[in-house]
Amino acid sequence: PPALSVRDLRKTYDNGVEALKGISLDVHPGDFHALLGPNGAGKSTLIGIVSSLVNKTSGEVNVFGVDLHAHRDQAMRLIGLVPQELNFNMFEKPRDILVNYAGFYGIPRAQALVRAEEELRRAQLWDKAQMMSRTLSGGMKRRLMIARAMMTRPRLLILDEPTAGVDIEIRRDMWKTLREINAAGTTIILTTHYLEEAENLCRHLAIIDRGVIVEQGPMRTLLAKL
Ligand code: ADP
Ligand code: ADP
Repeated sequence: PPALSVRDLRKTYDNGVEALKGISLDVHPGDFHALLGPNGAGKSTLIGIVSSLVNKTSGEVNVFGVDLHAHRDQAMRLIGLVPQELNFNMFEKPRDILVNYAGFYGIPRAQALVRAEEELRRAQLWDKAQMMSRTLSGGMKRRLMIARAMMTRPRLLILDEPTAGVDIEIRRDMWKTLREINAAGTTIILTTHYLEEAENLCRHLAIIDRGVIVEQGPMRTLLAKL
């Protein structure tokens, strides 16, 4: 089955805003997929529904063949989410943040310690493992968010504008981490409003505007059209 299958997904917020007007999307296992679109297009709403933070109005979402509505917990175990805002405790150390997060998901401590080292290394943060997180740079904090999401070994990693507002060098370091995660087999979906980012990282692209997908397909095909 697809890593993510979305069928005729609609979302109307209580205030009457139609954020999604019938979105259909398939993401293949192993893919690196971008959702590109301007502010207000509906990207956050879409990934909010996929990650169970937002209730859909209608439509269907399947994660590796698991119906998100019927089997929410089972589907959520397959997903890792990196939200836009930094939401870890700035007064904890990176290693503790990762190990505590794993503990919350029932991962035995010995295993959590091994994984924390793996993820901190992959995020180029191992030498910062014992520092106060508050003292990390902006880019390091963003990579810590990614490392934390990977602690549960999700098959699908979803990132909401992971590089919004960060400068180009920091973005490149994040891209390196994300490429390594994808190369190791995790399917990745990210939202962005930088075409350059989608172009650099992703194999498939969906362009969203005002709640509808206006273009979708392999990156190369779409770039030729744009
Ligand atoms: P179709 O269904 O018409 O074959 P796909 O969307 O399956 O189109 O594939 C379109 C392109 O994406 C093809 O070039 C295919 O090789 C490539 N592709 C298919 N699956 C993946 C994947 N998991 N990761 C990256 N590229 C893929
Ligand atoms: P994007 O992530 O592409 O910027 P969003 O999904 O955040 O787009 O927003 C899509 C539309 O839905 C916008 O018009 C936005 O104002 C509206 N919207 C988003 N969240 C809410 C909410 N909680 N209540 C009402 N309207 C919302």
